[in-house]
Amino acid sequence: MRNGEIKNKTTIPMLDLRAQYRLLKPEIENAIKEILESGHFILGPNVEALEKETAQYHGVKYALGLASCTDALHLSLKALGIKNGDEVITTPFTFIATAEAIAYVGAVPVFADIHRETLNIDPSQIEKKITPRTKAVIPVHLFGQPADMSEISQIARKYNLKVIEDCAQAFGAQYKGFRSGNTGDVGCFSFYPSKNLGAYGDGGMVITNNQEIFEKIKLLRNHSTTAPYRHSSIGYNSRLDEIQAAILRIKLRHIDSYNQKRREIARLYTTMLNSTVQCPVELPDRIHVYHQYTIRSLNRTEIQNFLNENSVSSVIYYPVPLHLQEAFKYLGHKEGNFPEAESAAREVLSLPIYPELQLEQVKFIAEQVLKTVKG
Ligand SMILES: *Cc1c(COP(=O)(O)O)cnc(C)c1O
Repeated sequence: MRNGEIKNKTTIPMLDLRAQYRLLKPEIENAIKEILESGHFILGPNVEALEKETAQYHGVKYALGLASCTDALHLSLKALGIKNGDEVITTPFTFIATAEAIAYVGAVPVFADIHRETLNIDPSQIEKKITPRTKAVIPVHLFGQPADMSEISQIARKYNLKVIEDCAQAFGAQYKGFRSGNTGDVGCFSFYPSKNLGAYGDGGMVITNNQEIFEKIKLLRNHSTTAPYRHSSIGYNSRLDEIQAAILRIKLRHIDSYNQKRREIARLYTTMLNSTVQCPVELPDRIHVYHQYTIRSLNRTEIQNFLNENSVSSVIYYPVPLHLQEAFKYLGHKEGNFPEAESAAREVLSLPIYPELQLEQVKFIAEQVLKTVKG
C-alpha cells in the first residue's frame, strides 16, 4: 500500500470461520453446554458417535478419533510396524506433517516427484524409488483431489507395501466412486479448524477395515491402557475430546453440501480464469473437494501483489518443497532433484475458498486476477 493511501475496503480472507459458526451457532452452543454440564470431556459418547458416523460415511468398519492428523499418520505407521531403517515413499509437495510422521518412527522419508497437472504423487516415480527397505507409501490427496489410487494400490500389491492415505485435505473426496481414505490400509484425517471438516481446536481420525490395525491404534492413542493403570506397551496421549467431537458431529451432517459449495466456487473461478492462468484440473474419475483452489502462473508474484493491493488474500501452498526444507537437510537432497515439485513451488497461488464465500466475491477475485495478467 502506498503511503497515506486510505484503504477502507474489507479484505476478502482466504477463509472465514466465523461465517460458518454464525449459521450453526445455536446448535453448537447447545452441544457445548451439554458437555460442560455432563462433566465428561475426553473420549466419551460424542467421540464414539463421531467414530461410528465417520466410519459409516466412508463405508469402512472402523474409525478412531485422535488428537490430530499428524498423530493419525504417526500412529498408523507405528501400528503397521514401520520402524527404524525402513523407507516410506511420499510426495515432496505437501505439508511437512506427512513426512515428519515418517521420521517419528525412525524411518526414512523417500520422495517421489509429482504430476505437473494434479500436483499429486506420480505413480511412475514411485516405482523408481522402491528398494528392499521400502515398506509403505503415503499418497496425499493434495488440495482435495484424490491421488491415483488404482496405480498406487497396484504398485503396493506388487511390492508388498502398506498404503497410508493422507486425507487431511480431502474429507468427502471420491475416487472411482470410493471415498478417499478407504482404499489404503489406513486413511488419516485432520479436523484442524481450516480443513474442509474443521473443529474448533485440534483433532484427527483414522479409518480402516483392518481390525488388527484398529485395535493397535486404539491402544496407542491412550497410553496402551489395557485395564485401569495397566499398560501393554509405550503408548501416547492422542485422544479426541468430547467438545470437538460434538462440534464435528454437527458439521459432518453438512459436509457434502459444504464440499458442493466449494465445487461451485471452483467452477466459477475456472470458467473465468481458464484461458489466462493454469487452473486446477479435476480428473474425470474423481470428485475434487477443493480444500484449496490453486492456480499456477509464471506471473505469480504480480498476481499476488495486485490481489493484495485490491484487498484480496492469497497464500502460497507451498513455497518450499519438503526435500529443500532445513528440517530434511539430513536427507542430502539438492535443488533439481524433484523438478516438478520445485516448479510448482515457484508458480502456485491459492485463492480464497470456503463454503460461505459469495459467488459475487469469487467473480471480483477472478476479475482482479484477469486485470493483472492482461495488464
Ligand atoms: C493439515 C495437514 C496435516 C496435519 O494435520 P494436523 O491435524 O494439523 O496434524 C497433514 N497432512 C496434510 C496434507 C495437511 O494438510
